[in-house]
Amino acid sequence: MPSETEVIRAALKGNPETHAKLRKLAQEGKIGTFAEIPPDEPLTLVAAVEHYGIVGAKKVTCTTCAIGVWISPSTQEMLKGRGAAPTAIICVPCFRQTIKERREEERTQ
Ligand SMILES: [Zn+2]
Repeated sequence: MPSETEVIRAALKGNPETHAKLRKLAQEGKIGTFAEIPPDEPLTLVAAVEHYGIVGAKKVTCTTCAIGVWISPSTQEMLKGRGAAPTAIICVPCFRQTIKERREEERTQ
């Protein structure tokens, strides 16, 4: 089974446009690493329903719809350091629904 790093590298190599967009967002400071998130700040993570064959991935449930999603070893490590800070783990469809609802709210305000 591939490691988390190998899966990410393969995904980015197979999606150069997405890779370029992510690199630009990181350079602009719009996305960052878990290390930059204060451990006492509420956090929502988006996790995939697919396992992707990552060694050490752990199945948890989506906070919103309770479907099974997988979190990587590095995410599991990060969560250990978060203590009692509110953390939600949501699936991609619930994330998309949340974005859609927020955009609709913004339009009606
Ligand atoms: Zn969900």
